[in-house]
Amino acid sequence: MADINLTPMMQQYREAKASIPPDAVLLFRLGDFYEEFFEDAEKVSSVLELTLTRRQGYPMCGFPYHALDTYLPRLVAAGVKVAIAEQMEDPRLAKGIVKRQITRVITPGTIVDNALLSPSCNNYLTCLVQGKDVWALASLDISTGEFRVCRIAGNDKLATEFNRLGARECVISHRLDARFNEEEGARPEPRTKLLWTTVDNDYFDFSFAEDFLKRQFKVGTLDGFGLRDLPDAVSAAGAVLRYATENLRQDASHICRIELYSLDSSLELDSISLRNLELVETMFGTGKNGSLLGVLDHTETPMGGRKLRNWVLRPLCDHDAIVARLDAVGAFRDDPLTLAELRETIGVVRDLERIVGRLNVGNANARDLQTLAVSLDVLPGVKSLLANFNVPLLETLNGRLELFPELVEKIESAIAENPPAQLSDGGVIRAGYNAELDELRSAATDGKAWLSQIQLREQERTGIRSLKVKYNSVFGYYIEVSKANLSMVPEDYVRKQTLVNAERFITPELKELESKILGAEEKAKALEAQLFQELREFALQYTVRIQTAADALAGVDALASLAECARLHGYRRPRIFEDDRLIVKAGRHPVLDAAMGTDKFVPNDCLLDGDRNRMMLITGPNMAGKSTYIRQTALLVVLAQMGSFVPAESMELGLVDRIFTRVGAADDLARGQSTFMVEMVETANILNHVTPKSLVILDEIGRGTSTFDGLSIAWAVAEFLHDDPSCRCRTQFATHYHELTELAQTRRGVNNYNVAVKEYGDQIIFLRQIVPGSTDRSYGIHVAKLAGIPQPVIERANVILELLEKAADAPRDAISALPRQTVKARRRKGDVDENDDMIQLRLL
Ligand code: ADP
Ligand code: MG
Repeated sequence: MADINLTPMMQQYREAKASIPPDAVLLFRLGDFYEEFFEDAEKVSSVLELTLTRRQGYPMCGFPYHALDTYLPRLVAAGVKVAIAEQMEDPRLAKGIVKRQITRVITPGTIVDNALLSPSCNNYLTCLVQGKDVWALASLDISTGEFRVCRIAGNDKLATEFNRLGARECVISHRLDARFNEEEGARPEPRTKLLWTTVDNDYFDFSFAEDFLKRQFKVGTLDGFGLRDLPDAVSAAGAVLRYATENLRQDASHICRIELYSLDSSLELDSISLRNLELVETMFGTGKNGSLLGVLDHTETPMGGRKLRNWVLRPLCDHDAIVARLDAVGAFRDDPLTLAELRETIGVVRDLERIVGRLNVGNANARDLQTLAVSLDVLPGVKSLLANFNVPLLETLNGRLELFPELVEKIESAIAENPPAQLSDGGVIRAGYNAELDELRSAATDGKAWLSQIQLREQERTGIRSLKVKYNSVFGYYIEVSKANLSMVPEDYVRKQTLVNAERFITPELKELESKILGAEEKAKALEAQLFQELREFALQYTVRIQTAADALAGVDALASLAECARLHGYRRPRIFEDDRLIVKAGRHPVLDAAMGTDKFVPNDCLLDGDRNRMMLITGPNMAGKSTYIRQTALLVVLAQMGSFVPAESMELGLVDRIFTRVGAADDLARGQSTFMVEMVETANILNHVTPKSLVILDEIGRGTSTFDGLSIAWAVAEFLHDDPSCRCRTQFATHYHELTELAQTRRGVNNYNVAVKEYGDQIIFLRQIVPGSTDRSYGIHVAKLAGIPQPVIERANVILELLEKAADAPRDAISALPRQTVKARRRKGDVDENDDMIQLRLL
């Protein structure tokens, strides 16, 4: 920074700057503007494309205060931490320099503003602590108060959990940060954009963290949350809460409990599968369109939407829990009229969780309170509809749906019909709620009328026709009587001033009225603010109970959504078992099925039983539907285990503990790894972690290297999955290596399937039907033709193919003759790459 003489304002700026995280930019309120200085000005002006100016040699930029709603989201989206310093007094009334204060610090993980949040996702601030052999990961959604912590062994699982949470920011100690920087590959690298925030090591001090949490939760011990003897989890939770509250700069009493959870209770999906299976978003897009969630989500409330999203990302592993959800979905689906009524009723409910959050830490306004009342008011309707169902899970949820008649009534009687968004605009409190306020308001508006009433009355009482009620700034309201009528002035008038031909009087009544009229508007606003505050505090007492009800309602909404989806797309109830079967009759890919419309998608069966049918080897030409089919299998398992009905005529499922996928040649150039390396890393991950209860979906492994390499690897992987006692899992293996089909002859659990195609002249027709048996043709050239490869190339390819096929009998001659010719021909054109496949072939 330039060495400059500090004005008092600049001194204040410096102090404010020193009190915020060093990496945050400071938006400094100056009159009607937020101004930024020095490096902050450079950063903000470049992100927001504002003009950078110079004042006394230092850079600055700024924007009008009302543009904050536009600019703040853009800064936050760009990953900038923002601190806001507001003026704490009216500059016109300030003596000396205006008092300013940091009112909040907004980081990606500490957002509470509705405008910056997506209604359909939680926004997690996370915190990572390295314990003995495990990680402790705390996650806190300040906007809803959801607070969880888990312990995770292994970096892979940690990265996956980050992905699942969609964490935006992670708080770590300086010490851990230093370790991450020293050791290559130590820092987990989730796919989501994650901001690492480092804080002092003492945030993680166990007894400090423990005390901090106990004070927050108002408890004497954390044992009730299952945190006994888990110092790493306590440190992580304490540190994240401290960081959050420091940035919020207010009490966050809606964060009043923490849940210890375990990854083992849900179906494990590694990061790659989360992505490949396009569970909540597609590989390329953001947003749920085209994903499994996109098909399933018929929720009516944002809480229900977030709940369903979490269910998709964390299918269950527990038989009874799954069956409980299936029972509820089934009951809803079997009663479409009640379901429709229930969904319509729930549709009125707004984001209760976030309203409660804003009431606690944000700037909740009168509309929030009104929405709260409207939302809570439908709960009795929801309860009585739920009472129609004799299903344990629905009964439990209904039991947690408490009613809040006093709160609803209080808010409804207090808040005006259409309250303004800003408290300062006035008119937030309903007429008739508070007598003093009513009077103040009528004083302001009816003041003039009262005065003329008094004038009229006094004229009649005194008989002085010319008597006037007037006002001046020296002594306010007064009564003026002309000299001629002075004899008629009553006793109770108090003389104030004598003029040439008139005298001025005041009366106690007039003075009382005057004090009411003058500043009545100001007073009304202040009183409104006070009443609103009281109302807010009244509502805050219900925080935990509303959170509980909101969570139950979210569950009902998610279950109703699954039922609606089942109804719309004709899903059936899966049957859940503890053995290793995975038997599907006429299954459909949920996303393609919904996208293609009724009866267009060709259904297929699946037979896996962990014994004679452990591995399905699926061959068939490109574009036949192999990838679709094996993904479909994984998606059906996800659906069944999250408690959803499935797009199939029937499904029998022995519970799966993990789904592994290796699908397509996903390039990961951004991470500097070659496609083949990525493929092998993913395959290694599968082979090292698979269990006999797992489902493995392999699509074309061994593609990124030479044919013989690839085939050998694919072969060995298939054998290992089938034979090794640590695996013996259920596997679907789609491959273009026909050679692999020989495995079925030597391995009892391996069975060949192919996707049927019909040849029609020199055309092929894809039947999309998975049938037993192997194919020996890949139809690659047919597909190339379909794709528009020029005819001469197709013809030449057919000639080469024929030669190569003959070469299988007389390899030496044919192989050496053919490619050399080709290479020579291409060399002449000067476009042969040294790594060319053809050259490799020649060398064989
Ligand atoms: P492969 O992996 O065999 O090359 P894909 O699974 O990628 O083939 O399928 C290619 C296309 O065929 C898909 O994009 C889809 O549009 C269509 N398709 C696949 N399976 C079916 C099916 N069962 N019914 C209808 N269309 C399908
Ligand atoms: Mg494919």
